[in-house]
Amino acid sequence: MRLKTFSPSDVAGKKVLVRVDFNVPLAGGKVSDDTRIKAHLPTLTALREAGAKIALVSHLGRPKGTVNLKYTLEPVGEELAKLTGWTVRFVPDCIGEKVDEAVAEWKDGEVLLLENVRFHPEEEKNDTDFAKKLVKDFDVFVMDAFSAAHRAHASTRAAAELIPSFCGKLIEREITMLSAARDNPKKPFVLILGGAKVSDKIAVVENMLKKADTILIGGGMAFTFLKAQGLEIGKSLCETEKLDFAGKMLEEAKTLGVKIVLPADAVVAPEFKADAPSNVVPADAIPQDQMGLDIGPQTAEIFTKEILSAKTVLWNGPMGVFEMPAFAKGTEAVAKALADATAKGALTVVGGGDSAAAIALFKMEDKVSHVSTGGGASLEFFEGKSLPGIEPYVIG
Ligand code: ADP
Ligand code: MG
Repeated sequence: MRLKTFSPSDVAGKKVLVRVDFNVPLAGGKVSDDTRIKAHLPTLTALREAGAKIALVSHLGRPKGTVNLKYTLEPVGEELAKLTGWTVRFVPDCIGEKVDEAVAEWKDGEVLLLENVRFHPEEEKNDTDFAKKLVKDFDVFVMDAFSAAHRAHASTRAAAELIPSFCGKLIEREITMLSAARDNPKKPFVLILGGAKVSDKIAVVENMLKKADTILIGGGMAFTFLKAQGLEIGKSLCETEKLDFAGKMLEEAKTLGVKIVLPADAVVAPEFKADAPSNVVPADAIPQDQMGLDIGPQTAEIFTKEILSAKTVLWNGPMGVFEMPAFAKGTEAVAKALADATAKGALTVVGGGDSAAAIALFKMEDKVSHVSTGGGASLEFFEGKSLPGIEPYVIG
């Protein structure tokens, strides 16, 4: 997929409005994780080096179209200034007089950070008149918020239709890496699926089934598949209404020659609790009063072997309840296997918000080829959907 990106001559001397995703976690009025801010620095630096003046617009949380200072971007501006040493001026609205004033007084090198775009109800309605107000003071629009690109909002979509627009470097990298896995994976291609629910991943399975050589299934969703094969799963997560789907998918995979690997063992506990007493049992011997909260060590070993034999690995969904240390080992083993496969030359891509959180928790995010910054956006991409925030820039 080729994208319309900016070159220095497109932005030199221009006033550029950049849609970023600064929807960062805050604690005690300060940014507690700056990953999302850092992800935009390549774009922001390239624009500045090309001689553009940049103003940043973002959402934060869900203020639902009203001004709620709990969701102000002001502390994010402080963090950006601290990270980069740039002069960042916070503008307490994203449209209207306050923006006009700041733009009129705009000094070279100064970065404007506009207030939360979701303080206006028109934003989430993809309202063109509102988008006109957003871009009014600017010459060029740059979309860099990959993680908001699955939403058609005024600042992610409508704005792109109004002034010369380009996508930024974060989006370029995301689309390059995600499409390398989704569209032309080098074989063997191993797809790893996990997470809580089958229903969240059905569209991904449907889109990717024909492309994968091997699919490893862990997490809560594995139990619906085990049950579809006739096993007893005790108190484990089960989506009864998805048993048919799971059964059909196992059949279809067989017809297509796609190898599906389900857990051979599981870590079980009597309840969903961090300190519940846990045990490892074979997948065909899960006691009635227990629930599976992680893949077992034998499964981790089997999955690792499969991952190490791959040239492309795409991972979406944790193998267990990794938030609780007692049930994190399976997810950690898979993260480690991805890191080792990467070292051997495989392309390894991680999508999904919780999967990204897990790989960061195990400090392996720099040891894989790519960890997507877009939870929902990456999921929709793997479902084969076109993302409304990206569409305006696709040129082939
Ligand atoms: P992602 O955000 O990476 O797409 P999901 O949102 O689909 O992943 O799933 C993540 C959640 O799945 C985690 O919160 C994890 O605790 C939960 N989970 C994983 N395995 C199990 C399990 N066996 N039982 C219950 N929940 C599970
Ligand atoms: Mg999730």
